[in-house]
Amino acid sequence: MIDCFTAAHHQVTTQTALDPLKSAIIEADGRRVSYGELRTSVQALAFRLQTLGIGAEDRVAVWLNRSTGLLTAMLGILEAGAVYAPIDPKTPCDWASELITKLDVAAIISDRPEALSFAPGRPVLSPDCGGAESIHLFRAPKLHPEQLAYIIHTSGSTGVPKGVAMSHRGLARLIDWQIASGPPGLRTLMFTPIAFDVTLQEVFSTLGSGGTLVLIDDRVRRDPERLLSALDAFNIQRLFLPYSALQQLAVAAQVSDRVPQSLLHIITAGERLIITPAIKELFRAMPNVRLDNHYGPTEAHLVTSWTLGEDRRAWPDLPAVGTAVGGVRAYVLDADLQPLPPNEPGELFVGGTGVARGYWADPRRTVERFLPDPYSEQLGSIMYRTGDIVRQSRDGVIEFEGRSDEQLKIRGFRVEPAEVEFALCTHPHILEAAVVLRSIANDVSALVAYLVTDGSEVKHRALAEYLGTRLPEYMIPDRYVSVEELPLTSNGKIDRQALVGLEMPERSAPPDGTSLLELVRSVWQRVLGHDQFALDEDFFDVGGNSMLSTWVVNELGLALGREVSLSLFLDAGTVEASAAALAELGLDSIPSAKFGELVTLKAGPADQTLILVHPLGGELLVYRDFAKAITAHLRVLGLRLNAQFDVACESMSLEAIATRHLEQLFAIQPIGPYRLAGWSFGGVLAYEIAQQLRARGAEVAFLGLIDSNPVLNPLNGLPTRDSQLLNELDQVLEHIDTENANARSALLDNSHVHALLGGFIPQGVTTEHLHKYLTVTRTCIDAARNYLPLPYDGAIDLFQASASSAQLRADLLTELKNLSRGSLRVHEVPGDHFSMLRDPFVHETALTFDGTLERFTTRTGG
Ligand code: AMP
Repeated sequence: MIDCFTAAHHQVTTQTALDPLKSAIIEADGRRVSYGELRTSVQALAFRLQTLGIGAEDRVAVWLNRSTGLLTAMLGILEAGAVYAPIDPKTPCDWASELITKLDVAAIISDRPEALSFAPGRPVLSPDCGGAESIHLFRAPKLHPEQLAYIIHTSGSTGVPKGVAMSHRGLARLIDWQIASGPPGLRTLMFTPIAFDVTLQEVFSTLGSGGTLVLIDDRVRRDPERLLSALDAFNIQRLFLPYSALQQLAVAAQVSDRVPQSLLHIITAGERLIITPAIKELFRAMPNVRLDNHYGPTEAHLVTSWTLGEDRRAWPDLPAVGTAVGGVRAYVLDADLQPLPPNEPGELFVGGTGVARGYWADPRRTVERFLPDPYSEQLGSIMYRTGDIVRQSRDGVIEFEGRSDEQLKIRGFRVEPAEVEFALCTHPHILEAAVVLRSIANDVSALVAYLVTDGSEVKHRALAEYLGTRLPEYMIPDRYVSVEELPLTSNGKIDRQALVGLEMPERSAPPDGTSLLELVRSVWQRVLGHDQFALDEDFFDVGGNSMLSTWVVNELGLALGREVSLSLFLDAGTVEASAAALAELGLDSIPSAKFGELVTLKAGPADQTLILVHPLGGELLVYRDFAKAITAHLRVLGLRLNAQFDVACESMSLEAIATRHLEQLFAIQPIGPYRLAGWSFGGVLAYEIAQQLRARGAEVAFLGLIDSNPVLNPLNGLPTRDSQLLNELDQVLEHIDTENANARSALLDNSHVHALLGGFIPQGVTTEHLHKYLTVTRTCIDAARNYLPLPYDGAIDLFQASASSAQLRADLLTELKNLSRGSLRVHEVPGDHFSMLRDPFVHETALTFDGTLERFTTRTGG
């Protein structure tokens, strides 16, 4: 076994010998470092380490930014036979110091003065230690394959991170496989966070096959629009990145209508790959680019790989993670560690050469997860228990199903909620905490912490600062919600499902005549979920991250009625600076008070927009799955009523509501063609908005009525004006203020109101929210009862629920025909009035919708 082993860094040495003048690294400013130059500094550092007596099994911590120095340190440490232990440069000092203490390092390589106090008595070196003249004295040490190559830290469920200790053999088998799987020698962007295991794959598979690594500025890395430009500017051919970053890149490509030109190979790793419409669109525009889905926990680095087929149309939403690669064995076992038959879901265990030695200095946790491998013939083999639930087909293809525990992934980072909860509970005023991952808006996933305090007010901002000294940035919750107690399941565990269902705290909308400064501040507040930031503080210092910054830009664009670039925001990262930059663009006034609000439901080109109009309660929940399922090449915006809806609005006519919405629409899209659609009452409102648009001479390219009729109730075919629901609603509204949750749900269940709302009220909403929702519902019903629709001259597309009776469908159609003076097309979609927009029918409804929309969209993407 030992004889056929080539250490990963030795592959780089081979490439250096083949062509020492070739560029190994291109830095952000264009400076090139050849293989030969890199080799010289690597050997100088390795020699320095050797002279300090550092070698096999000695840990050397590296606390550096992504740079040539970092690469020198990585290679130099391995070259000296020592163990590479990277610490993320953003790790808070206290935390870095703790990790370094636990590693009991022999040396630290860093350019930061704080590092001097981390390991008293141990040398702190610069990666560029000079001494090129002494490199001929360097003698590469003999390397045993089982010797440790690196230790990478990952989140731990007992509140303490775990250091995964990987051998040279484990790393080498992966790099061998990656190079053989090809294509080799590609120009690869160094994208992954440097304390990730994937970084080693990125570096060694590139430099070990004669490729070039490109380093870019971190701000460019975080900004999908600039990243797109950098891909072209540096002719990047290969990119390793987590799914969430790929999705951001795909959305940026869609919005800016650009397609990277030089890419050949994209590898997603670290989290579940979802083929979103944006990703599919991007790959359709890049027909020659290969997409691989890599799966593997840090404890076994890479376990499986799956290359998606050439036909993009056939890509499933959730592709398989593939088959085991390079010296790895994958077992799907039941609770008794017995193999399961093909296609049965079970826990994935990983055996073979890819499995790490265990957790550094943590035998207890090592034995919990690294078990003797009963299926290996080799004595002493171990297998790693992943905690991932998978299915394996007869031919070995693995589908990922989910986790068997609470471990989360946020933007590709692994987070054990317990580690964050532990840190939160060290705060003197926090008694209990639970952390969950939930979508807070527009598909933005965020870590949300629910807290029980001792009664003291805990400022969220201060809490984020407190955690900032204890946890890495990605583990700091995006939102904090105070609760009286944490809900428990029947077996006494924290009921995380119930937490996800809780309403997020209300966010305030900007008042009338808001200044730019106030606008920016209110958007930040809405996006960050707190207002504990000063006007001159940087977004990223007060809880912001790249995902949230995209959202801020989106919201500002909608409020100002024009596209705001992410670069503007990243360059001017404080409230003050953003407002000043917007003012400089001539955007120093904002449209008057918002009665409604436009929300992005699906990103897409700004000049191809579909507006989905809110149904009765004024909210957009009903469209959530539907908008996602639409694949037509357009942006989907939802039009909803917002907090500005007050008593004065309660007696508005439907025409007046439509006029107010029209103003909102004009702010973001001053000229046609317009595409509008709405479900149920939303369709009636869309009908009236379309009517008014046409009356103003604007072009309406599409009006979609989704089981909606301007004069008849689509549920029972009775005239809307005869609706008895108002009386029922009034009764509910009178009694809804009860604090008793059971009484409240009885009220909602025992009336027609329940049928009317069709379960579109999120679970666990506050009474205040419910009150507002029902008040808006009442206003809308009243407006619909008194609405006298005029005949419509344009084209209408009606989407009818096929589960409604034939008589009902015929009656609804007859009434619509009476109003329609243009073309009227009828499309049957599966399900009833409510289920047509829910799983599983929503996909077919969206498909039918797509077919109709295709006629009205002009394809601009490559
Ligand atoms: P990490 O140790 O940070 O690499 O995280 C490993 C965990 O991330 C795995 O155990 C999975 O739960 C998840 N994971 C990694 N890659 C994938 C993938 N391609 N598909 C689904 N889940 C993944």
